Amino acid sequence: MQEQWVYVNGEHVLKDDAKVSVYDHGFLYGDGVFEGIRVYNGNVYRLDEHLQRLYESAQSIMLTIPHTKEELTDIIVQTLQKNKYRDAYIRLVISRGKGNLGLDPFTCGQPGVIVIAEQLALFPKKLYETGLEIITVASRRNRPDVLSPKVKSLNYLNNILVKIEASLAGVSEALMLNDQGYVAEGSADNVFIIKGNTIKTPPGYLGALEGITRNAIVEIARAQGYNMVEEPFTRHDVYVADEVFLTGTAAEVIAVVKVDGRVIGNGAPGEHTNKLLKSFREKVVEEGVKVYPNQAVQAG
Ligand code: PMP
Repeated sequence: MQEQWVYVNGEHVLKDDAKVSVYDHGFLYGDGVFEGIRVYNGNVYRLDEHLQRLYESAQSIMLTIPHTKEELTDIIVQTLQKNKYRDAYIRLVISRGKGNLGLDPFTCGQPGVIVIAEQLALFPKKLYETGLEIITVASRRNRPDVLSPKVKSLNYLNNILVKIEASLAGVSEALMLNDQGYVAEGSADNVFIIKGNTIKTPPGYLGALEGITRNAIVEIARAQGYNMVEEPFTRHDVYVADEVFLTGTAAEVIAVVKVDGRVIGNGAPGEHTNKLLKSFREKVVEEGVKVYPNQAVQAG
């Protein structure tokens, strides 16, 4: 098996040697921020947007990232080169760093910087052809005025509670409603519904993370002439939609064919979802920061 290299605080180390302190507040309290990023065909997709979101998350929790965006770009590129990956999922983590056992983040020293790259597929390949069955769970999305979902923090307990409910129900993903009962998002992905020529996704203020894949799909849908709107909707609107799909860096674009036992459309991934997925896949292999700038571009 190929060796896997992980970047930890200034060094590239083998996966088994990649360790952090038990006093790191990222471990003790989920105190830190992260990004999930993908590289397609040697191009890191929308890295600028991921870094922007990372820096905004860090600014919001008063965490100073000990690198410039250019330095972080280099670290990501080096990690991919070291692993010889052209297609991978990248996890970039900035933790608060080593402190004492108290909550106070100002006791922590240098923030931790970790980059893991893996050849991850979130769902089995078959599910991209058949579509997903999902449920709505009882756990509600954190209120944006309590813990803003815009902060992509290491504290994912809200989302983990959703995942537990989904797993117990025997499905691989679930929808969360916000505190008012409007559909917010999945445990780690955004949701879209299609009816006729109209595509809807919940607006950010309802409590969803403004996903980078979500924004890419919004742009593609508008360019293709759909009536693409960011508007609140309820579970009823999901049940009666022609098509439903989820988006995320890990999930990419995946059709949903059953929600809370209701079959969506004809129970198979719909034509519009497939069209958007195709356009998305065509774009991602071309765009982005080049990991191997001196090599000829290979097809998909
Ligand atoms: N919502 C949540 C809660 C997430 O964790 C993610 C994954 N980052 C998304 C949505 C999708 O965002 P993106 O397309 O930027 O990966």
